[in-house]
Amino acid sequence: MEFYSSQISNLVEQLSHLPGIGPKTAQRLAFHILNMPEEQVTGLVNAMTDAKKKVRYCKECCTYTDEEICPICANPKRNHRQIMVVENPRDLAAYEKTGKYEGVYHVLHGAISPMAGIGPQDIRLSELMVRLKDDVDEVIVATNKNLEGDTTATYISKLVKPLGIKVSRIASGVPAGGDLEYIDEITLYRALEGRTDM
Ligand code: ZN
Repeated sequence: MEFYSSQISNLVEQLSHLPGIGPKTAQRLAFHILNMPEEQVTGLVNAMTDAKKKVRYCKECCTYTDEEICPICANPKRNHRQIMVVENPRDLAAYEKTGKYEGVYHVLHGAISPMAGIGPQDIRLSELMVRLKDDVDEVIVATNKNLEGDTTATYISKLVKPLGIKVSRIASGVPAGGDLEYIDEITLYRALEGRTDM
């Protein structure tokens, strides 16, 4: 990389820290940025720093928001007695796109993975348990259908069931190892409708 100026090398290196960006893509993006009009670059940089500064976790469901409470939790028309547990805000967005789910969410920001050294204390589980002190009828576990998602679902079920709250898991309509984000809305809706008690 020595044939570039150190600024370009630095830009390439910073970009290559992003997920899914290998060295070649990082180089391509770096040169693209250098060719962008200055105000567009400033807009990109400002959007990143503003988001990083202003976005925080919703006090209720832990999703990303720029208010204290996210719009879903703040909506009185949503069923606050039904909580769907998802791994990340992208999964929440996927279920919202179906337009069929009327309950609220809880975002774990990860899943239990003994292999990766991620335990129950590393995800937003204690926040969920606090919410269950209010009147809740059902916890729908919508973690991914893979080893981590299954481990997390079983763990949640063991915690929640003794409280006398119904725990269900989304149906097998979601393919094994499938990332919720890439599944179409009808499949997601069917998985939700076909959920089974744990
Ligand atoms: Zn919220």
